[in-house]
Amino acid sequence: MLEMPKQKGPPILVANWKMNGNLQSINRLLCDLKRDFLDKELGSGQVVILPPHVYLQIVAKDLSGTSILIGAQDADERETGPVTGGVSAKMLLDVGCEYVLLGHSERRNLFNEGDGVIFQKLKQAVKVGLKAIVCVGETLEQRNSGQVLEVISNQLKPIISQEILPQSEELLIAYEPIWAIGSNKSATIHQIGYALSEIRKILRDVDINLSDSTKILYGGSVTEKNIAEILALDEVDGALIGGASLDPKSFSKICRIAKTI
Ligand code: PEP
Repeated sequence: MLEMPKQKGPPILVANWKMNGNLQSINRLLCDLKRDFLDKELGSGQVVILPPHVYLQIVAKDLSGTSILIGAQDADERETGPVTGGVSAKMLLDVGCEYVLLGHSERRNLFNEGDGVIFQKLKQAVKVGLKAIVCVGETLEQRNSGQVLEVISNQLKPIISQEILPQSEELLIAYEPIWAIGSNKSATIHQIGYALSEIRKILRDVDINLSDSTKILYGGSVTEKNIAEILALDEVDGALIGGASLDPKSFSKICRIAKTI
């Protein structure tokens, strides 16, 4: 049977602010973003902002009634209880999050998060109804030794287990080659296309519905200069943006370009 190409929806742009900013700078950033593009430029659900946990409620309040959605940069793998410093998926939902980022390479490296913990986090997130964006991607060493597929596949397999499948419409995958993050050196269009089509193949081999419903994003030094050709790729459903999302002018430009795709 001939396979129909998957219809692409409008691209989704996810702004990962990481551990940057303070009350003053975040208020300024929000003000600029609202003035520059909000509501005039993009449809609902196309822009998601991931502020640091402590500012979530403030950002959610400031953006309520706009088309911008809010998410968190991480969530605990436990539901509740004696976890000092922990923030549960349910708490994130409580303060207005719709999304949560999981398995970012900085979490994997700085906090020693392995695939098992990321899977537990994912379980908690989808259980409460958060949309989870799970990051996968290789180091430069792994790329240079021809391990890209192996790394991606090993990171993906635990995530797309039978336990998660029934809630698969909540899943997004972000391909973020670690060497491209914050390096000003995005992966090439060819590298992105190849990795994302392999991710789609892995999803399809597990479940055709999962493959159809999962959005796959690219992240790693996305700027207003490369966003157009990245989003134009058939395989790309959106982008995860770090550094450029902290500059309202750059981020607004990225959003405006995304609107024309
Ligand atoms: C990220 O860390 O998720 C990221 C994409 O960062 P940058 O855009 O700065 O490379």
